[in-house]
Order: sequence, then structure tokens, then C-alpha cells
Amino acid sequence: MAGRLSYKIATLGSHSALQILKGAKDEGFQTLLVATPGRLSLYKRFKFIDKIIQISSYSDFPKIEKQLIAENAVIVPHGSFVAYLGIDENKKINVPYFGNKAVLDWESDRLKQRYWLESANVPVPRRFTHPSDIDVPVLVKSYGAAGGHGYFFAKNKGEFKQKIKSFKAKNYIIQEYVIGVSAYIHYFYSPLTQKLEILSIDRRYETNVDSLGRIPSHNQQGLGIEPSFVVVGNSPLVLRESLLVDAFEMGERTIAASKKLMKGGLWGPFCLEAIITPAQEFFVIEISCRIVAGTNLFINGSPYSSLYWDKEVSTGRRIAMEIKDAIKKRLLSKILN
Ligand code: AMP
Ligand code: AMP
Repeated sequence: MAGRLSYKIATLGSHSALQILKGAKDEGFQTLLVATPGRLSLYKRFKFIDKIIQISSYSDFPKIEKQLIAENAVIVPHGSFVAYLGIDENKKINVPYFGNKAVLDWESDRLKQRYWLESANVPVPRRFTHPSDIDVPVLVKSYGAAGGHGYFFAKNKGEFKQKIKSFKAKNYIIQEYVIGVSAYIHYFYSPLTQKLEILSIDRRYETNVDSLGRIPSHNQQGLGIEPSFVVVGNSPLVLRESLLVDAFEMGERTIAASKKLMKGGLWGPFCLEAIITPAQEFFVIEISCRIVAGTNLFINGSPYSSLYWDKEVSTGRRIAMEIKDAIKKRLLSKILN
């Protein structure tokens, strides 16, 4: 019987795997985890993981694809899929994959990403193509930078010229450094109901930038501290209710624009990484087109997810709910790639 229980939800053992598989189990699915040896002892602790398939390294993932297909698995990708397998390997995955692979090229190219957000009328920080135009503090980001590595901050044009000399990356963008509070908004867009939900919001905790304020600036003088943006964790955030209006509208415009730019558009979980200025304006610095690690704060639901659902719904569980709904409506092909 091709009932919903015959499908298994599978993911790689890292990032938000626990959330994804707990959510899948709560929705009645069998769960499968693909893990490297160093992580087995962690994942064996949890009863909601029905089966663990071991691979010696992430690059061995293609070798177990046949097995996953035979298991009737649906893969839910998370941050480690792109980080460890790379975009091309993601595109090559033959196991049914939740989400639209067409967004990968748009997301990974900083300029395409910017074009997408701009065409959605989502405010983005100013970009400087000519260093001589720099008239505000800037952040210089190399193309492949992730997790806050590969960046430098320059407070003005002169400092930029000095620091660029020792910057190793050839391809980089120069962006206005927006001063404000960061808010990472976790959305879920259902292609089945065409509704957008905000499920939760987090702030990243980044070292050392989030601790600089603990040392008064006069004590910092002469220390030569450079801000860095290395993620160490996340903390939860709720927004002023008035700011939710903009947050929803930005998300909706992002989805609408995606439908014009890429076949099928964006669906499922995504995150707009925003900085909110004192004028209460959002500037979006990045879009992540999958479940982000900050959602791990909300495994047992969030203040927002309980507004839509009478149960504890994490982003991981919301994905499982969508897969379940698609199976019921015989529309699974609409949400998988
Ligand atoms: P890990 O689960 O530590 O193996 O991380 C997998 C990928 O997700 C890496 O590329 C990390 O940089 C990224 N990542 C892990 N945790 C977070 C987090 N809390 N916020 C943002 N990115 C993260
Ligand atoms: P990203 O890799 O683009 O997510 O950026 C890493 C971190 O750098 C963010 O979480 C922010 O703290 C900071 N950041 C990136 N871009 C900007 C910007 N334009 N203005 C201020 N902070 C930024």
C-alpha cells in the first residue's frame, strides 16, 4: 500500500537533523539518517531515528543513493547539504528531494541573489562596485564566504584601500555595513496551499562582533580589534508586532519574484537574514533557501507557529506536514525534485 507511512524521511546527520527527524516522526513517518562514524554515538541516543546508514565521509553520499531509493526515502536537505556536498552534488541527487533545486544557483551566487531580492523590492544594503565611491562603513565579503569567515570590515575608503592589499579572495563584494539589530526570519511557503507562514525568528550570536559592546570603546582604543562574524549559536527573538507586517510582505514578495525568475519558484522553508535599523527599516543581507540552524531553538514549536497550528510545530515538523499533505492529495511530485 502506498500509504503515507510507507515513505521514509531521510537526512544527513548534522545541522538540523534532529529537528527534521523528530518532526517527521511526530507526523507518523519512518525516519532514516545518513551519518558519518564520528556522529553515530550522538544520533543513537534518540528513539525517533528508526535507522542509521553509516557512510565514512559525506562525499560517499552518492554510494548509498540506491539504498535510499529502495527504502522509499524522501530527503530533506539542510545547511550541510550544500556545505559538505556542494551544489553540483546536490543537483545530482536522485533520491526524491524536498524543495526546488533550481533555487541553488540563485542562492549561491551573491549577485544573482541580490538581483532576486531587488526584483522582489526587498531592501538590500548598498553595494559599491567602485571603491572610490565608498562613503559609509563597509563589509567586504568574498564570494564563497560562509559562517562569517572571509569578511573584513572597513570604516571608510582609506581603510578599505589599506585592508584590501592583504585580502586573499579575488572575487568579493563591497557592501554597506548596516548598523542595527539582526533578525533571521524563518519562513515556510506551502506550494500546496500557496500560503506563507513565519514560523520563528532568531538572532545569531557571532564572535567577536556580538561581544565588542562589552568593552567600552575607549578601552578598545589601541587594541586593534577587528570585528569577526563567526557563528557560535543562536538565540530566539520575537519582533515588535508592527514589524511583522513588513516581515510578511517581504517574504511574500520574495516568493512572488522567485516564481518569475526560476521554474517553479521557491517553496518550503527559507530564511531572510535582516538587519533592522533605528528607523525600523529592514535590510536583507542574505537569503537561505532551506531550513536554517536557528530553527533548532524551536523544536517544540514557537510563538508564531502556535498561531497557525494547534500543536507544537517546528520547521522540521512543518516540512513533514507538507509532505504528508502532498501524499494525501497525490501531489508529491509538486514538492519534490
Ligand atoms: P554542522 O552541523 O556544525 O556540521 O554545520 C553544518 C553547516 O551548517 C556548516 O556549514 C555550518 O557553518 C552551518 N551551521 C551550523 N550551525 C549553524 C548556526 N547555528 N547558524 C548558522 N549556520 C550554522
Ligand atoms: P552572512 O554570511 O552574509 O550571513 O553574514 C555573516 C554575518 O555578518 C551576519 O550574520 C551579520 O552579522 C554580518 N553582516 C553581513 N552583512 C552585513 C551588512 N551588510 N551589515 C551589517 N552586518 C552584516
